[in-house]
Amino acid sequence: MPSVPTTITDELGIALGNLADAATGTITPTLRLGVTGLSRAGKTIFITALIHNLLTGARLPGFAPMAEGRLIGVRLAEHPDNATPRFAYENHLAALLGTPPVWPESTRRISQLRLTLRYQSNSWLKSQLGVSTLNLDIVDYPGEWLLDLPLLTKSFAEWSAEALALARRPARADEAKPFLDALSSIDPLGEADDVTAETLAVAFTQYLRASKGDARALSTLPPGRFLMPGDLEGSPALTFAPLPEPASTPRHQSLYAMLERRYEAYKSVVVRPFFRDHFARLDRQIVLVDALRALNAGPEAVADLETALTSVLSCFRQGTSNPISRLFTRKIDRILFAATKADLLHHTSHPRLEAILNRLVANASRRAKFAGAETRSLAMAAIRATREGTVKDNGETLATIIGTPENGQRLGDTVYDGTTEIALFPGDLPENPESLFKSVESTPQLNFLRFLPPTDLPMGETGDPVFPYIRLDRALDFLIGDKMQ
Ligand code: GDP
Repeated sequence: MPSVPTTITDELGIALGNLADAATGTITPTLRLGVTGLSRAGKTIFITALIHNLLTGARLPGFAPMAEGRLIGVRLAEHPDNATPRFAYENHLAALLGTPPVWPESTRRISQLRLTLRYQSNSWLKSQLGVSTLNLDIVDYPGEWLLDLPLLTKSFAEWSAEALALARRPARADEAKPFLDALSSIDPLGEADDVTAETLAVAFTQYLRASKGDARALSTLPPGRFLMPGDLEGSPALTFAPLPEPASTPRHQSLYAMLERRYEAYKSVVVRPFFRDHFARLDRQIVLVDALRALNAGPEAVADLETALTSVLSCFRQGTSNPISRLFTRKIDRILFAATKADLLHHTSHPRLEAILNRLVANASRRAKFAGAETRSLAMAAIRATREGTVKDNGETLATIIGTPENGQRLGDTVYDGTTEIALFPGDLPENPESLFKSVESTPQLNFLRFLPPTDLPMGETGDPVFPYIRLDRALDFLIGDKMQ
């Protein structure tokens, strides 16, 4: 039986939480901005760059309050929530400014940070009251956790059937084999025992992780915490795995019944509290998408990214199909989809990258509207690791990007050592994004490498280093600009 998706206590909890937000908001209005995306989409870099740009008063011409000279100052505020870890801004920045600079550690769990922005309103009435203030709470969380929403309406048997069907798909054969082998050697109706449960859970988790590697880049795989456990690393809440439905009713002491109980506990102790305590309180959301990594891996990865995004985005839709939509209808009123790492392409290709992003999220938007939320999409690089150039090839001028690939990055037979700067023509994105979802033959040859973070940063007027970016200012303007009028 699918469990009842929401409870009176959930609703009460959210109502009280929102009341508390509103109560503190009477002193200073607070905007809660969710930053999500699948792992390595660019969340950590986006948040770090955003905070650094705001704190150091860097040039953000696309951000209206700054362009209009109304932004007075931004500071880090006291951490507002004892139950949620603080986003490790200082450590991430130190990594990016180190000698040599390195990319910081990526998002592995939920964290948040509050900025207080002081500005002059452009409304005559509001400006008579003096300087206005806005608290911006930035909440960073793994997109994988959103994949868990559908589990709330799925029984263990239903989820198992789907997960096993996926694991048996030819595209996943290599990664899934050890898990399927382990599964074939156990009897689900046999006596429950922790060691078997653990062995299966480990094999299942390894299969999920292997599917996500760069070569496969497959992403549609709940339960989200198996991939991104956060603080639950090693917890018994994660020791379950899908099992084939037994022919007869399982006894209470059977392995099947035990894993079923753990699956239900995962839903009530892990999944539901996340949606209730964090997700339901967001006002705005940016969804970061690393489309280029999927393009590198081929049509299967692109199609899989689309399925994963459809699943992730179902959380933002209103409708009866969404099991907890009642809880957060009309709260999130703006969603920005951003294709990250646009600096891996020449700017002339950015419109095509945006077209691909739109195609990736189209399915999700077509099936249901985003609860009246305004949506927009753009191609962005929170920190540019490359600059642009051109090369002549057989009389043809090719638009290139110039940067230093990370140690071990490979292009054909060449393996880079992390010290050589190169000019790369990454290939042409197709005019029609549809071809990327079809056969390998219709996919153009594309080469997106990982580059080292930028060195020799210029200094801004405040004496702070300035990170080059692409459209970060425009993203910020869409996400918070209207709240600073
Ligand atoms: P997340 O926190 O898991 O979503 O991802 P991160 O923010 O840690 O980014 C993952 C990796 O993507 C980084 O380590 C960088 O290698 C790369 N990356 C992120 N943002 C950018 C960007 O704007 N430009 C480039 N070239 N690489 C980026």
